[in-house]
Amino acid sequence: MRVHVDPELCIGCGICEGDAPEVFSLATSTVAQVIMDPVKPEFEADARLAVGDCRESAISIEDGDE
Ligand code: SF4
Repeated sequence: MRVHVDPELCIGCGICEGDAPEVFSLATSTVAQVIMDPVKPEFEADARLAVGDCRESAISIEDGDE
């Protein structure tokens, strides 16, 4: 599984980083960066939680690639 953040939609709220700090980071940018690609199976649930919690719908999932 891979995740992608659309920088045009992301407002840098940090919710995704709170849900899945191993997968998303705002340490180096004002928009979320994906720091685990592909997402390891043990972090997929956290990543999916972040997708659901992102109010801007900025995170997309690409399945079948793990
Ligand atoms: Fe950006 Fe969505 Fe993450 Fe907020 S939750 S930082 S809008 S990708």
